This record gives sequence, structure tokens and C-alpha cells, in this order.
Amino acid sequence: MQESQSRTAGSELRKSARPPDPGMSVQFVKGVGERLCKLFGKLGIFTAQDLLWHFPRRYEDRRSMRRIAQLHAGETACFRGKVRVADNMRTPRSGTLLTRVAVDDGSGIAYLVWFNQWYLKNKFAKLLGKDIVVYGTAQFGSRGIEFTNPEWEEISDDGGDTLSSNRIVPVYPLTEGLFQGRVRRIIYNALDTYLPVVEDPLPEEIRKRRGLVDLATALRNIHFPPSEEAREEARLRLVYEEFFFLQLALALRRQNVTTALPGIAFDVTPECSKRLYEILPFELTNAQKRVIREIERDMARPIAMNRLVQGDVGSGKTLVALASMMVAIHNGYQAALMAPTEILAEQHYLVLTRWAEQLGLETALLTGSLTAKEKRAARERIASGQAHIAIGTHALIQEDVEFAKLGLVVVDEQHRFGVLQRAALRDKGLNPDVLVMTATPIPRTLALTVYGDLDLSVIDEMPPGRKPIKTHLKATSERPRVYDAARKLINEGRQVYIVCPLVEESEKLQVKAATELAEHLQRDVFPDIALGLLHGQMKPAEKDDIMRRFRDGEIQVLVSTTVIEVGVDVPNACVMLIEDAERFGLAQLHQLRGRVGRGEHQSFCVLISDPNTDDARQRMDVMVRTCDGFEIAEEDLRIRGPGEFYGTRQSGVPSLRIANILRDVDILEMSREDAFELIKADPKLSASVHRDLRDIIKKRFEGSDLVTVS
Ligand code: ADP
Ligand code: MG
Repeated sequence: MQESQSRTAGSELRKSARPPDPGMSVQFVKGVGERLCKLFGKLGIFTAQDLLWHFPRRYEDRRSMRRIAQLHAGETACFRGKVRVADNMRTPRSGTLLTRVAVDDGSGIAYLVWFNQWYLKNKFAKLLGKDIVVYGTAQFGSRGIEFTNPEWEEISDDGGDTLSSNRIVPVYPLTEGLFQGRVRRIIYNALDTYLPVVEDPLPEEIRKRRGLVDLATALRNIHFPPSEEAREEARLRLVYEEFFFLQLALALRRQNVTTALPGIAFDVTPECSKRLYEILPFELTNAQKRVIREIERDMARPIAMNRLVQGDVGSGKTLVALASMMVAIHNGYQAALMAPTEILAEQHYLVLTRWAEQLGLETALLTGSLTAKEKRAARERIASGQAHIAIGTHALIQEDVEFAKLGLVVVDEQHRFGVLQRAALRDKGLNPDVLVMTATPIPRTLALTVYGDLDLSVIDEMPPGRKPIKTHLKATSERPRVYDAARKLINEGRQVYIVCPLVEESEKLQVKAATELAEHLQRDVFPDIALGLLHGQMKPAEKDDIMRRFRDGEIQVLVSTTVIEVGVDVPNACVMLIEDAERFGLAQLHQLRGRVGRGEHQSFCVLISDPNTDDARQRMDVMVRTCDGFEIAEEDLRIRGPGEFYGTRQSGVPSLRIANILRDVDILEMSREDAFELIKADPKLSASVHRDLRDIIKKRFEGSDLVTVS
């Protein structure tokens, strides 16, 4: 936020000549000091302003006071009474120091109890006969109603606000050594001092049109709401603001990407993909057709395409990519496909080459594990234009590969086509259309946030005739029976994946676990069956060899770490057995399950797990209940919370303070509309009323790879 020193709405009320500066160290906020300043630092609070943005974790409605005589055990309540007696004593058995304070409200007496806080006695001794407010959970103790470690607050004689009672009370995230009452008071002080100089960064026009309260009101009411309604209004406003600046940054970035360099205006005609549709042995799904139309529309425009195609595993993204490549190729350009791993690149190469042969097109594969000679040959075919389609890992655009005429880049299974890669292309004087394909089922709301600078196409339909994968949850004690069932299917000619338990601590331990599991299975469970092992520390050539042998049916059981998570296609494999499934995240489980169900046979996913937390149980239930990636993603988001969502951390999206991308979809879309409109009207934010916005964005998203403000 930008605070200008010139506009100080409340400054005439203040005695000091200089207006308060919210950028000042938190140490100088009334009530803080050196010691607390350090503790606040642990919470990421360094300035007075940070304090204003330290929002409550939750609230407690303490507006109604209870009478002591009416309290019952187990009730969490608030009451007010006079301090009568304060004593320190030792418990008979353990000798623990105990402070007991009697409070009397006329209807009865309640005892407040603390352990090992000897100094409290003196504190209460000074309050004898004075009124305090207490909040806590009532229990029946030896003397009647008792409160252990309650919150309490003195009622000041000067009639100042009580912050911990008689109102909707904020409950803050704390760190050891900080206490609610103190933090409430400090934040209250900070609001008092700094709200008068807080400037509202939202354009007035937008605020009025959307009916949002001003920032000062929002900040006051999010901390100390006079009513539920006021709190909700405050929240709406703050959520809106959070989304608005994020979307504004995304809009700006897209602006930079799309206007900096013009793209290729491909001539899109039915001729482009006529041949492809002639040889296609099946009808495209409606979703595929729609997405291809969206892509073609982009490709026809003279600006660079930046589109994300999202489609569950098996939804047929490869064909969508191929159809797009046909447009580029028909226009005399080359297409490149980049995969995140060599195995995947090679698989794509095999699939695309099969299509290409029928279409009379040439492909080239370029990966790190080729021999120098093979690499040179591939480079030459790419540089001469002989290869229409180049397939490889990121090395394709990062190394010194020259394209004869690159027109389209397809990035597969990538969370985000990085700014760096774009820049690498641009450095080569290229500004091809870019299509990013992901199977990570991101809920639309999240996609708008994570990929807000890309256009989004969703393949929300599966090719017909797929048999849904049957998913079962089995206890570890049922393992022998699961192995028996797997053996039966193997005897019928099927193949089986067994994913070993996830070891997050280190890759080394992970490899050890995988190796041990494979040895155990080969020795004790499947001695007569060909079994292979695949893990991340194997050399690419070894991995390849194993994958090829599995694909060719030489291996029946493939024991693997999560390296098989993405993309590899073996239609004859129809069992995915996941050991200790509760250790995996939902998105990962879904990806793993997506490795089966690709052929004509009924496929099964078996989750072996004894889930012992709520979270784990919920994840297992979701997996058993549905195969719909989008539903799973929504559940994932719900169970883990937006901050933890798979894929967002890597993508460098700044964490959201108050907005919740699930609950606040409407506000997200509203803010997105406003932000993109604003950038359309004022692409460089150069209007004087918009200048501050630019600074705010720069400040807020500094260091995040999400946003580059030039
Ligand atoms: P994804 O990359 O989205 O996981 P693929 O593109 O690998 O999926 O497609 C999975 C399988 O479905 C492939 O064997 C592909 O040939 C087939 N396929 C794609 N589209 C269709 C369709 N419209 N009808 C039938 N099969 C399809
Ligand atoms: Mg794919």
C-alpha cells in the first residue's frame, strides 16, 4: 500500500506536527517495545502497517454476559465480576504452583486457576474489589465453578473500550510469548493512530460501483466488528482488494506479453487439418472440437497465443495439440513439443511419429540421453526445416537449437510455462504461439488466479467407451488378498503397477524404500513373475529400458516411485496398487490412477492404507467416490486449504491473506473483470489516478515469479 504523506484526513485532530508513518517499525506502536517487537517479527510483522494487516484467525461472540449462578460445566462463556481473593498454593501431589482467584458477580462465585504463574497473584492482589471480565470454559472443580487459564481483562475506570468482552472479539494468530489480550490492545492502538492516514488504493469509481466500504472502515471492522454485517462488509472489501491487485498484475503481465511482440497470424482454413481428420479412427469429442476452435481462433490473430489447455488424464490432449500443430505446419512453420521428462518426451515422440507417418510429416526427437551424433542429426533436421515437429525436453529451446521456422510451442504437463522460457524464445527472435497443456485438474477459480495471464480452455469430456476405473480402499492387513487378486489378473495377461510408499525426507531413502519393496515382492510374493523397478535416481537409459520392457509386456509388475506419475501410456496395465496411499496428496493419487484405464480392460486402483487422521480418511473417501479430476481438485482445495494446493506453491503465486479462492469465487471474478477492464482502458496505468496502482503492484509482487512489471 502506498501512503502519501500529504493527505491526512485526521491530521488536524492530532497535536503532533508530523503525521504518523505506517511504515515505521512496529516497535514504536503504543504498547509494543523492543521485546514484543521481536516476537511480532516471528509473525512477519515488522511495521505498524503490518499490524493493521494482521487479521484475526477467527472471532468469538462475547456480546452477551452470563451470570455465574447460571453457568454449567463445559460451557464457554463470558462474565463480569469483582476480584475477591487471590492466593498462591501448591498442589498436594505434584507440588505444582497454583494461583487461584475468586470472582464474585453477586449471583455466585467462580474460581480462576492458573499453574506456574506466580506473578499473577500480585497482579490480582492489586485488583481486589475491582471489576474484571472473564472468558473461558467453565468446569466443576472442588469448590464449584472453575475456569482454568481463562482470558481476562480489567475494566478500566475511564470507560475505555473493552477489547476482550462485550463485543465480537478478534482472535489472532499468535506466537509463543504473545497473548490475545495484549495483541488486541496493540492492534487497537495501531488502528487508532494510523487509520486516519491510511489511503484507499482502490479507484473510487470501482469502489462506488461495487458498493465496497473504504479501506479505513474495512480495517477497523475486520479487527473490531461492531456487528456480523459490518465484519462481512469489511471482509468483502479486503478480499476484493486482494484479488483485484493480483488480477491487475496478471492483466498487466499479459499486456506486456501480448503487445511487446506481435505474433504470427496463421491462415486457419479447413485445409489445415483435413488430412488429420481423414485418418482419425474415431470422432473427436465435442470438448476437443470446442478447444481446437478456441486455439484456432487464437492462432489466426496477429498476436501471440498464450493458452492453457486443461484436461484430465486420458481426455485426449495430444490430439488437440496435433490439430494445432497442423495449422502451423500447413502455414509453413514448425511445431515443438516440450515435455518435463525424457520418458515423456520419448513417449510423445512415439505417438506423434505414428500419426506423422500417416500424414507424411517428419518428426525429430532431441533429449539429453541421445549420443552426440544422434543429437547433431536431430539438430540438423530441426535447423534445416526437414523436421516439421520437434519433440524434447526443455533443452529444445534452452540450448543452442536453431529452428528453421518455429511457429508453435506446445508445453505438456507443465505447471507453468515460465517467464524465463518465454524470454529464451524471445532472445532467439522468436515469438511463437504457446499452448500449455496440463492434466493437473485445477478448479477454474484457482486457474484464474494461478494462470490468470493465460487464456483457459477446458476439455471437460472423456472419449466415449471408457470403463471407469474401480477404486478400492484396502487395509494393510488385507494385502495378501490384494496380491492374490493382482496375480489372477496377471495370469489373465494383464500388467500391474505397484507404487511404493512416499518418503518425503530424501530421494535416497525413497530409492531405498522402492528397492526393498521390489526385492520383497519378487522374493516373497511374485517369485515366478517378471518384476521391474523404476525410480528417480536411475540413469535415463536404465529408466527407459525398464519402461520399454514394461510397455512390451516383458515385465508384468512394475514397482515404482512416483516417477510414473505423468503421462506414460501402457494400455495393458490395468491395476494401480498404491502402498500407504494416505501419504500421497489427492492430486498425486489421481495422477497415479490415471496411468490405468487406458485400454479395453476393466481397470482397478487399489489404495492400501490404514488412514488414521481425518484428513487422510477424507482423501481416501474422495478417491473411492469419484474419478472426476475436477471434483477431486475441489475437494483437495477444501481439505488442504488454498495455500497448500498442489501446484500453486511451485507456481509462485503469492499467498492470499484473507481471500479464499473456493468461497470467494464471485469476488474473484468480479475483481478480474474490473482489473482487466481497467488495463484495457489504461494499458500502462499512466493516467494520474492510476499511478499509485502501479507502485502497489510492484511492491506487492516483488520477488514473485508471477508478475513482471516492466
Ligand atoms: P491425455 O494426454 O489428455 O492424457 P491422450 O491424448 O494421451 O490423453 O489420449 C488418451 C487416449 O485416448 C489416446 O490413446 C488417444 O488416441 C485416445 N483418444 C483421444 N481422443 C479420442 C476420441 N475423441 N475418441 C476416442 N479415443 C480418443
Ligand atoms: Mg498427455
